[in-house]
Amino acid sequence: MLFKNIQMIDPAFRVLEDMTVAVRGDTIAYIGSWKGLPEGEDWGEIYDGRGKLLIPGLYNIHAHTPMTLLRGYGENLSLHDWLNQKIFPFEARLTAEDIYYGYLLGVAEMVRFGTVSSTDMYFQGDSLARAILDSGFKSNMSISVTCFDDRDYKELPIYKETLALLDKYHLAGGGRVKIDLSLHGEYTSTPKVAAGLAQHCKSLGLNMHVHLSETQSEHEGSKMRHGKTPPRYFADQGIFDSPTTAAHCVWVDEDDLDILADKGVTIATNPISNLKLASGICPIPRAKAKGINIGLGTDSVASNNSLNLFEELKLYALLHKTTANDPTLITPEEAFACATINGALSQRRENCGSIALGHKADLVVLDTTVPNMQPCHHQLFNLVYSADGGDVRLTMVDGQILYRDGKWPTLDMDNILKHVNASCRRIVKELDK
Ligand SMILES: [Zn+2]
Repeated sequence: MLFKNIQMIDPAFRVLEDMTVAVRGDTIAYIGSWKGLPEGEDWGEIYDGRGKLLIPGLYNIHAHTPMTLLRGYGENLSLHDWLNQKIFPFEARLTAEDIYYGYLLGVAEMVRFGTVSSTDMYFQGDSLARAILDSGFKSNMSISVTCFDDRDYKELPIYKETLALLDKYHLAGGGRVKIDLSLHGEYTSTPKVAAGLAQHCKSLGLNMHVHLSETQSEHEGSKMRHGKTPPRYFADQGIFDSPTTAAHCVWVDEDDLDILADKGVTIATNPISNLKLASGICPIPRAKAKGINIGLGTDSVASNNSLNLFEELKLYALLHKTTANDPTLITPEEAFACATINGALSQRRENCGSIALGHKADLVVLDTTVPNMQPCHHQLFNLVYSADGGDVRLTMVDGQILYRDGKWPTLDMDNILKHVNASCRRIVKELDK
């Protein structure tokens, strides 16, 4: 496929006009002028890019994608009541098939809003991997370890399950599926299990995905339980000896941020979820000052209630100006980096996250003729502050179109909606008994 006469955002976040971008297989094979395009190659479809903007696909680096099934189920409750009365009983009734179709619904929503990859944490790994492969999506997926007794990590069923997942799916789909290891959190596991998992992750050279200091009670509770903050505790258990994505990091102090910086941990910040659950606000200005890699996540649909990363992008760009009382903080370039390249790097996908020669063709086209994108003094400013996700016209992952003009070529939307709604009806009926 070849995009012609299109505006694009380059790796330095400059807006280039009247560009030609060609895709061969899953790779960006040409970026330049129409005149400079080498002759003699059939690129397939020529896409008319007039009035359109080509951007690198967005990275949602903290998600529990199958929780689309819980959208709008349980609102305006305290975190404790929300989890115990609503979320956990519902999740306990989810089958492998429910999770497969819930994931596909999440993919449909993400690609509609220009997201090409997720860092996902859930259970029923087989369902997650099949949904990623079948849809054409990209993900670093993990099944998260929780353990409340004194067993060794290798005695947990999830240990064997993880080995089977690695064997069957790691780097499947041309590398689209990556299996990460995951510890759900400090407060849902024991020191022995955390250390065992950390050791396993390091020995396999995989990425780690954790929840970290999301709430004040978790952060303070860790000091009571271990005499250490969650980041100090994780560092001591060896969790950060693998490349780690830590979701939230809301309650971290100065020493904690030094640990995260020292260990090269990526913060996955989820501003909407944190605001909705009244968890607090991640100290991004201080994290940024320490050079910590920062990416954006939605967290689950249940606490968001969407998978539209454009909402996170705008909120991220605005929120920390207020907390730091500095309107010059978080430039549009920095915010857009958090939504793209920083996420790709956290997934250790060095050939993704920007429109560059030889990179994977993870491309998104936005309509810039819609009212909210006009007039245009600077396209990057419109992209960060004015785009709303609904302006996305096409989303491509590894050279394959997953969304275009209201249609999902790789997904049977009628079938997905049928299954998702049947699952929800069944579960709500069981819970009402
Ligand atoms: Zn989460």
